[in-house]
Amino acid sequence: VAKGAGKNQWRRYQRHLHDEMVERLELRSALDHAVNEGHFLLHYQPIVDLPTGAAVGFEALVRWHHPTRGVITPDQFIEVAEESGLIVPMGRWVLEEALRTVADWRRILAPGPAPYVSVNVSVRQFREAGFVDQVRNALHHTGVPPESLMLEITETLLMKDDEQRIWADLSTLREMGIRIAIDDFGTGYSSLGYLRQRPIDVVKIDKTFIDDMVTSPQPLALVSGIVSLARSLQLSVVAEGIEDDAHRDLLVRLGCPLGQGYLFASPLGPTEVLAWMRAVATVAV
Ligand code: C2E
Ligand code: MG
Ligand code: MG
Ligand code: MG
Repeated sequence: VAKGAGKNQWRRYQRHLHDEMVERLELRSALDHAVNEGHFLLHYQPIVDLPTGAAVGFEALVRWHHPTRGVITPDQFIEVAEESGLIVPMGRWVLEEALRTVADWRRILAPGPAPYVSVNVSVRQFREAGFVDQVRNALHHTGVPPESLMLEITETLLMKDDEQRIWADLSTLREMGIRIAIDDFGTGYSSLGYLRQRPIDVVKIDKTFIDDMVTSPQPLALVSGIVSLARSLQLSVVAEGIEDDAHRDLLVRLGCPLGQGYLFASPLGPTEVLAWMRAVATVAV
């Protein structure tokens, strides 16, 4: 009996693995189709000056507009996009689309100041030869000045491999006038000292620390440490995932200059974002 039960369990396990594999393959082929057909759109979430609430920039966040399943957020497909390499053509589209959009904002808001757009870039994109040229060309043909673009790269992805080459590319991009941000800072194992001597402008503190800092001393110490080190290194800081006044007030007291989160706005569709800009002040800092 015991042997039979073990066999059934094993079969169930095998079937589970099989189903999972099929699901991933299906997702991969659907994603491949979406890349070819251009079934993506960008939402934009304001990055605000914490003391005033005015927007300084907007983070571009990709969505998959699935023909039958509706709008799908990246947590459901970014991993497969990374593994399959589809993140490379998808990322190229994201960059171009974000720059076209910021070019529109600049036209619409002229002669006033326009916010920058912040684009998430995967390490896979950096590994592809010619990424720096791709960015340079995209800026050139959209007519967007480099100051209107920020690139975000996650701390954990950066530490994996190819570190030196990626840092060299980041330096080049930064010398062109593009802002460089380290995303999800605090989730990797790098120490604060990691931030010294790096070609970066902005540190984005991961939302898990913002969630916890109001109630626990450890995340609070980390956030406060990042803010004061950043100040001494002349880096800017964005706190991610600000959901209520308590988060915002504490961050302002700690001297954190910038923030992002549902308290200010969720990621907004391309038309909503213009309405939001009209309702809320937008400044270039
Ligand atoms: P991220 O770059 O750290 O982006 C922040 C994520 O937090 C976004 O999720 C955003 O919608 C969410 N968020 C913002 N404010 C709040 C808040 O107050 N509370 C909570 N709980 N969440 C908040 P989203 O749009 O689902 O994106 C998830 C991740 O997918 C991003 O994390 C980024 O790593 C990746 N991603 C998004 N778009 C792109 C892209 O175009 N290229 C690449 N390579 N990765 C992307
Ligand atoms: Mg990001
Ligand atoms: Mg982040
Ligand atoms: Mg993230």
